[in-house]
Order: sequence, then structure tokens, then C-alpha cells
Amino acid sequence: MRLGFHVSISGGFSLSVQRAFELGCTCMQIFCRNPRGWTVKPLDKKDITEFKKLRGQWDIAPVFVHTNYLINLASSRPDLYEKSIEQFVIDLERTEALGAEYLVTHLGSASGQTPQWMIDRVSSALNMAMKLHPPKATILLENTAGEKGDIGYELEQVNEVISRLQDSSRIGICYDTCHGFAAGYDIRTKKNVDALAKKIEITVGLERLKGMHLNDCLRDFGSHVDRHWHIGDGKIGLDGFKALLNHAAFKDVPKIMETPKETEEDDPKNMKTVKSLIIRK
Ligand code: MN
Ligand code: MN
Ligand code: ZN
Repeated sequence: MRLGFHVSISGGFSLSVQRAFELGCTCMQIFCRNPRGWTVKPLDKKDITEFKKLRGQWDIAPVFVHTNYLINLASSRPDLYEKSIEQFVIDLERTEALGAEYLVTHLGSASGQTPQWMIDRVSSALNMAMKLHPPKATILLENTAGEKGDIGYELEQVNEVISRLQDSSRIGICYDTCHGFAAGYDIRTKKNVDALAKKIEITVGLERLKGMHLNDCLRDFGSHVDRHWHIGDGKIGLDGFKALLNHAAFKDVPKIMETPKETEEDDPKNMKTVKSLIIRK
């Protein structure tokens, strides 16, 4: 099973692989630039060559790139909507320049608009982006917690977006366990995990599930509040993760932790916890 963390790119992409390797990652996630600004520094060719070399050497795959946080593909503001499409294309180009397999994006939000309106909006944005830049990397749509105004908190919504794309051959999903739990997909028991697998199967299809964000949830089931927490220490708990990690539908899906990093021990501890839950046959 491929396991990894979202790691910092501070100091360069080659340093990010170094961090992943030191944490024992076999896959990883990064931002491809400052996630909270619009400005983009040009990519440093030497750094990228080193990045590719190191991940090859250490067999870290796949690499997930997460889109910039300012991008909102469902925005009701025309200026922000346009800018988001432009910036999404930049993230896609950088993902490909890095040789990363996947670009993970949220579907966006628009307070006061109906889910249907947002589904239309985000599908148009993705169609536009893919027309501007036909993707070589695969775009992964991430389910959300259903915080105020966001879309993509039900797998049916994610599926509806996919069904409206002119070309969905380079589209998959990244399932975030914290977001899903907050949105009403329970995974605390084996039965719940079975039900989630079934739900994915009948909506987007299990073949589209290319990655998972493995996060416990600090807030209650169905709270619609997105607060990631350490594996096993949140409301999902150890039994839930044990059921998920060993489930036939999920065991071969690469998993990235986006758990809090308050101390140096946090990542190693979460990695250890996850490994201890995997039943080796
Ligand atoms: Mn995300
Ligand atoms: Mn996530
Ligand atoms: Zn989240």
C-alpha cells in the first residue's frame, strides 16, 4: 500500500522529496507554489530535474499536486471565476512539468447559489480549462465537508460534474475521509466502509478512485466542519481506519495524510499508527 504525507516545498521541490523519503513515504502530495497567493515563480529546471531523479531513485509514486487555495471553480464572481480557470491551468501545467501524476482540486463554493448552479459552474470551468490545456496529468476531484456554500459534499454531485465534462478520460476522484465523515459518510465500522465502497461504485465508479486523503476528523459525524485530526485520535477512530485500510476496494489506493503537523513527532506517529492497522497476509 502506497502511503505518504502532504509535505512542504519550502526550499525547493527536491527538498520536498527528501522530506517525504525521511518520513518513509511511498507516495506524496505537494503544492506546486505558494498555495495562498496568485503570484507564480518560474520553475527552476535544475530543481525539477533533481526532484524527478530523487523520486525515481526512492520509488515515490504517485505524486499528487494540490491546487492553490484561492482557486474557486464555482465562484459566482465573474472576475474570480475567470482568474480561477487561468490559475487552475497554471497548476495543471506545473503538475505536468514536475512529472506528477495527479492534480487534486476542490470543486469550489458559491454562497447563496443552489448545488445545481454550482455543478454547472464548475463543470464549465473544467471544460474551459481542459480546452485551454488538454491534460496529460489526471485531474482528481476531491469530495468536500459541505461547509457553508461549497459543492462536492455528496458523491452524486461529484459524479454529476464528471458527467458534464466533454472529455472525462483524464478525470478521477480523491476521497478525503475527514471531509466525507463530516459530510455524512460514516466509516466507523466495517459495515459503514462497505457502504462507502458501494456508494463510490454506483456513483463515480471505483475505477475513478485514484487517491485518498487519509485524515481523522476532529468534529462530529455530519457536522459539515472540515478539521483534520491525527489518525485514530478523532471522531473516526482506530477501528474505522482499520476497516478502511484493509478493505478490498481501498487497500490498493494510494493514501496521503493531511494531518496536523504541530510537532516533529506528529507525522512519524501518524505513519506508525497507520502501518500498525494494516493487516499483512
Ligand atoms: Mn484538499
Ligand atoms: Mn483533503
Ligand atoms: Zn480538509
